Amino acid sequence: MQQPIKMERTGNPKAKPALTDMQLGFGQYFSDHMFLMDYTDGQGWHDPRIVPYAPLMLDPASMVFHYGQAVFEGMKAYRTTDGEAQLFLPERNAERLNRSLERLSMPPLEPGQLLNAVRTLVHVDQDWIPRQEGTSLYIRPFVIATEAAFGVRPSSRYLFTIVLSPVGAYFQEGLQPVDILAEAQDVRAVRGGTGSAKTAANYAGALRAQVEARAAGCSQVLWLDALERKYIEEVGSMNVFFRIAGHVYTPSLTGSILEGVTRGAVMELLDDWDVPCIARPISLDEVLEAAEAGTLEEAFGTGTAAVISPIGGIRWKDRFIPINGRQVGDLSQKLYDTMTGIQRGLIRDVYGWTTRI
Ligand SMILES: *Cc1c(COP(=O)(O)O)cnc(C)c1O
Repeated sequence: MQQPIKMERTGNPKAKPALTDMQLGFGQYFSDHMFLMDYTDGQGWHDPRIVPYAPLMLDPASMVFHYGQAVFEGMKAYRTTDGEAQLFLPERNAERLNRSLERLSMPPLEPGQLLNAVRTLVHVDQDWIPRQEGTSLYIRPFVIATEAAFGVRPSSRYLFTIVLSPVGAYFQEGLQPVDILAEAQDVRAVRGGTGSAKTAANYAGALRAQVEARAAGCSQVLWLDALERKYIEEVGSMNVFFRIAGHVYTPSLTGSILEGVTRGAVMELLDDWDVPCIARPISLDEVLEAAEAGTLEEAFGTGTAAVISPIGGIRWKDRFIPINGRQVGDLSQKLYDTMTGIQRGLIRDVYGWTTRI
């Protein structure tokens, strides 16, 4: 049975940033409240509460700092054109959070309880949902190990937190293709590891390549598989799609790839539009050969933050391979318009993807 959420409202609300401003950026501002809930072995999850946003107090011996049990989610609340608020496929984030928790030997959350927490918190801070096109309220649920003890074993205590951050438009002047660097040295994840979980360590290990990509003038890393360094996995923290000779391909989920909610929705749309979309292993060689043969029509990343991020070209060793003349592809544009249209309530959601708050 769900415990009622205790509510402690802030006495001094923050000054909100100009929420109509496109300069909100990503994850720079946080709303007035946060959701907290504790877990204790033997007792389960307890004390769900919404409290004023504030720093957390943690024992320095908290296991999360030493052994890295930390998982998170990322989803958004969108302001619809009629002024309401809605979530996009929140059930899939709840299911994925539980898969991540399971992989890290952390206790599951009841999906209904997670969704109720998200809805209640967003409702309390609904004035923080920005209104301008392309903006949204980013929702970051996360779970960390809080038992104060050294020793490598699963923690007996956890803290579940949700914070909210109003975010600006990812693309301020329409879709912009980005260049990516195919990474030859570092790998993000290996089959059997934690790549299919949204866990903090995956991102820490990816930072070095990200910094190198930036230095090479690229905004994202194109990750190759850890075993053969041959097959494409993801782009930055997005899933990746290639359109080659009218067919769309995306890497199959082999265990080292994060299963994106956006990836799933894109595959459903393509299926609905009778655009063949196939999940299978795709080698970098195959993509480069298609580019040379002129059959690589477009490529794009998918994720909650950008929705669709067109790829302008791939840097690989000392080569640069432009894609589609560095223009936004037709399919990328159509997917972006459809997804964001559904999210903002401009296009009728015939798929049942959205939930009003
Ligand atoms: C979150 C994430 C994605 C995209 O998932 P969405 O649910 O579409 O936002 C893809 N890859 C990685 C590594 C991620 O962390």
